[in-house]
Amino acid sequence: MDVVNRYITINNHINIAPQDSDFELKASPLSLSLDPASNVVIVKNLYVSIDPYQLNRMKSFSASQKTSDFAVAIVPGEAIDTYGVGKVVASTNPEFDKGDIVVGLLNWGEFTVTKAGGMLNKLNPMGFPLSYHVGILGFSGLTAYAGLFEICKPKKGEKVFVSTALGSVGNLVGQFAKLSGCYVVGCAGSKEKVALLKEKLGFDDAFNYREETDLNSTLKRYFPNGIDIYFDNVGGEMQEVAVSNMNINGRIAVCGVISEYLDSEKRAAPSMIEVIYKRIKIQGFLAGDYLNIFGDFLSTTCDRLCTGKIQPLEDISDGVESIPSAFISLYRGQNIGKKIVKIAEE
Ligand code: NAP
Repeated sequence: MDVVNRYITINNHINIAPQDSDFELKASPLSLSLDPASNVVIVKNLYVSIDPYQLNRMKSFSASQKTSDFAVAIVPGEAIDTYGVGKVVASTNPEFDKGDIVVGLLNWGEFTVTKAGGMLNKLNPMGFPLSYHVGILGFSGLTAYAGLFEICKPKKGEKVFVSTALGSVGNLVGQFAKLSGCYVVGCAGSKEKVALLKEKLGFDDAFNYREETDLNSTLKRYFPNGIDIYFDNVGGEMQEVAVSNMNINGRIAVCGVISEYLDSEKRAAPSMIEVIYKRIKIQGFLAGDYLNIFGDFLSTTCDRLCTGKIQPLEDISDGVESIPSAFISLYRGQNIGKKIVKIAEE
């Protein structure tokens, strides 16, 4: 049997803010009749992840492209891989059967053909919606969990600052930190986001960084006794002022620097004198380096979801054709929580 596989590609490298004209919806026939010797799995994609780091893969050059198997350069015209959940529709790989629900590296498209050795695992949804396994129970959740607990090691009563706090990773960092007994302040790019942080997610306080004219004074206002932990999703000036407001032995997890992704000239230059004399630890990290704690992360997060101690925050668009606008929305601050595209019904 043949199907038509529609998928998204880029027309060109993207070095500035992404826009609709950078993307193309392509279609190609795909046979579901497999050669028995092929050792291939064909997955009907159900939910695919939309993440800021893909932009660094789309650039003509980014340091990220040579440092991780997950972040290699995307070639214009070719399919784009991403994390996602799908259903096996054909398989000659003995480890997978037709009908299996799977999670792993899929494409921004309707189908994914995975050869032996591709990153694909059977998924037990454990009663949760499949979309949770792309976000809160997937890499976004692992990123928040690993960055906060493995790098920042929060202690009860410590003061935690989270940037991009209503994003996919940030909202979970704040929620995890609250459950550890910390005082948590987040910043985000709109009044609506600030209200959600305080009223829905239980942050102690939050502010709209776009309305602030002097970020250093802003942090002094929200943290009169200094910051113990900064979970950095943005880099740039926010990182510089956070360093200036850190306490002695403070910890900073540098998760992402999204404010620098669109501007090759913009780079944070935090005061190293502050870093030295305050003995601040600043560590960059990749979630993919923490697969060893995935089991621990999953059981803790499932338990907290079941007991209502953590709220999932998802922002789901429909259909393969919505992938470009979903991706562009990240760079316009239009997403509320984890951005996902639902490709098909199970
Ligand atoms: P996200 O926060 O759900 O979505 C992106 C958000 O970034 C937007 O909603 C917007 O929020 C903010 N933003 C966009 N352009 C900005 C700019 N120029 N300056 C400041 N903020 C801007 O995305 P996410 O998936 O949770 O990712 C958050 C960060 O973590 C990103 O930097 C990402 O690259 C990084 N990340 C790292 C890892 C890792 O393994 N290290 C894994 C996942 C994500 P506002 O409205 O609040 O501005």
